[in-house]
Amino acid sequence: MAPALAPAALFGLIIGSFLNVVAWRLPRGESLVKPRSKCPGCDTQLKAYDNIPLFSWLVLRGRCRNCKTSISARYPVVEAVTGALYALVVAVKHDDAAQLVLGLVLVTFLVPIAVIDLDVRRIPNALTAPAAVLAIVLGALLAPHDLPEQLAAGAAALIFFMLPAMLSKKGMGMGDVKLAAVLGLYLGRAVAPAIFIALILGVVVGVAVMTSTGVTAGRKVKIPFGPFLAAGALIAFFVGDSLVDSYTDRF
Ligand SMILES: [Zn+2]
Repeated sequence: MAPALAPAALFGLIIGSFLNVVAWRLPRGESLVKPRSKCPGCDTQLKAYDNIPLFSWLVLRGRCRNCKTSISARYPVVEAVTGALYALVVAVKHDDAAQLVLGLVLVTFLVPIAVIDLDVRRIPNALTAPAAVLAIVLGALLAPHDLPEQLAAGAAALIFFMLPAMLSKKGMGMGDVKLAAVLGLYLGRAVAPAIFIALILGVVVGVAVMTSTGVTAGRKVKIPFGPFLAAGALIAFFVGDSLVDSYTDRF
């Protein structure tokens, strides 16, 4: 059966629109369900037809219909990325129900986690805690024989990150430690390449920042690690098992 990519992408756009709301309101302690979204410039509540994921922003060219205040491109970007990731999960995992469900749930948590960490340098427990619970519950229901590997990978990632996080004053925080553990619960053994990729991405971006600002100023720039963990996790989710296999085959 051909995977339903267009419906998956469309569904992802709608979820992405909600994730924008989560990413903005959760760190500010606001309700996720009401009121309706408002224009940040003139406080006009958005009409349903001006709140269509991606398309409204494009049609209105990133401006409020009422007051022409420009609306950040981050909203359509988050929606488009979520839509693309949903379609990708369905494309790659459509013949494996457990991986399909875990992948969609993982994307749904990683998008707001990455955006919030970029925004406020914090990964809320309000996201990592339910993500952990869902990974264990879904794993137990859909693929119980994989559950021991999930739990072991979560514990290993937690221990791996705990020490550097406790020693370093800046950079790694407890939010990153908890996120790494959550990734173990979703990825199983593929959490190893996920962390490896995240560390490499972090070093590459860190060096790039220091090159552009100078070492002294660059050292003061606090780069959130959550987005790298999220990127590493997604790459590992799609190709991680083959990475682990090709590595273990060699030895
Ligand atoms: Zn406005």
